Amino acid sequence: MKILIVEDEHEIAQLIQQALERENFITAIAKDGLQALSIFEQDSFDVIILDLMLPKLDGLEVCTRIRQQSRLKDPYILMLTAKGEEIDRVIGLSTGADDYLVKPFSPRELVARVRALLRRSLRHEVQNSQIYQTKHFIVDLDQHQATFKDNDSKLLDLTTLEFNLLATFIGQPGRVWTRTQLIDKLWGKDFFGDERVVDTHIRRLRKKIEPDSNNPMFVKTVVGVGYKFEDQKE
Ligand code: CA
Repeated sequence: MKILIVEDEHEIAQLIQQALERENFITAIAKDGLQALSIFEQDSFDVIILDLMLPKLDGLEVCTRIRQQSRLKDPYILMLTAKGEEIDRVIGLSTGADDYLVKPFSPRELVARVRALLRRSLRHEVQNSQIYQTKHFIVDLDQHQATFKDNDSKLLDLTTLEFNLLATFIGQPGRVWTRTQLIDKLWGKDFFGDERVVDTHIRRLRKKIEPDSNNPMFVKTVVGVGYKFEDQKE
């Protein structure tokens, strides 16, 4: 498990690093927001520990930019904030952070939070430790990778949501899904918003996997109901 520590205060960064390495995590340190982004672009991390107040680019901006990138595996982001207004900023804005920790904190507390975040992802992976294969697709849930099998196989560049959508479909080929069922599956029961959001993501997924997205052969519309996925067996 790899963790990126983004913290400009050297002593705090060291403290966090020592605590995590004692628990056998692999770590890297970035001293400001720009350095964080450049390290993130070259490597992939399971968790990013991100201080809010940083030189060059602040934590919120770094968080936003990281979330804008489509990765097969999005990192968990744990924000570090000082007491006071900063906390309101982190909670009040939808930053894309998964959790936050208020300074000062103990190394033990930090490790516990990191573990809690990773349990979320492990739980997800244990439930779905499978590879689905059809005539045209390989979907590897552990690696979070989807491949389109053509003359030469190519890795599909999908966002997390598109990947989850494809994985949901391929897990039950031929099943007709209503929009509500897809929302429950992909966003969870506490989704709040317009269920037409599903159509938007279907459209994007089709553009990436269908030879002709106006005339889809895999993700089919079931008029008046929803969608279904069809492909021949391997
Ligand atoms: Ca700072």
